[in-house]
Amino acid sequence: MPQTPVSSFRSKLKEWIHKAGGILAPPFEVCSYCRSHTRAQPNELGLCEACFSQIPWIINVECDRCGRAEQCPDCTRRQETYFVRNRSAVKYDSVMKDLLALYKYRGDERLQTIFSTMLVHAFHLLLQSEKLSIEDFRCITYVPVNEERLEERGFNQAERFASGLANKLRLPVRCTLIRTRNTPKQSFKTRQERLSDLQDAFALHPSLYDDPLWLDNPSQRPMKVILVDDVYTTGSTLNQCSRLLASYRNAQVYGLTWAR
Ligand SMILES: [Zn+2]
Ligand SMILES: [Zn+2]
Repeated sequence: MPQTPVSSFRSKLKEWIHKAGGILAPPFEVCSYCRSHTRAQPNELGLCEACFSQIPWIINVECDRCGRAEQCPDCTRRQETYFVRNRSAVKYDSVMKDLLALYKYRGDERLQTIFSTMLVHAFHLLLQSEKLSIEDFRCITYVPVNEERLEERGFNQAERFASGLANKLRLPVRCTLIRTRNTPKQSFKTRQERLSDLQDAFALHPSLYDDPLWLDNPSQRPMKVILVDDVYTTGSTLNQCSRLLASYRNAQVYGLTWAR
């Protein structure tokens, strides 16, 4: 019997998670998201079927640069792009906003596994775009959060998503960037103000300068690095972080963001 697009996507997702060395979520009784009771049936993410079916997966990429599923004015407008590509797992709709807010509030491990498992899908979109394989990448890193927000929340979600993904892909994870100053919440600012705020908001982490992973590069080929963040909005944050990493030992940065 022919598979529907959704069922074929789901079997692919299962296959990717297996390939990445991840195991499917164990049988569960309560959905991690809506907390409804459900029959103990393994599911890719530990969600009930109703919640799983609401996930707006990005399956067809429209913008090859940023991985958006629609036409993309941001990439055409950007003057210089320092990352090779970005891929995101899902569209950032109201359900996904709610899921992220819930994670920021609860911070629990079951929810965290959902995000890093979803990132495996984004990673496969990336592999497809350039005929790459896991071995092509040297390490995974993440966008740092400012201290104020770290104190508020107690954790950096990008760091946690990166660690979860690194586990699944069996790649090393590195802290490569720091925030040099706290950027104010961006929502009330104009595009120009946001960009100049970001210019000097990051710096390379001092540990990078004596990390053998970065220093030993026998092949002398540019190092491919995965940079993880939670949400890709205009790409400015990813671009600024990539600019720094690319300036050091000629790294090639690939963005993986959970939502776009
Ligand atoms: Zn549910
Ligand atoms: Zn784009």
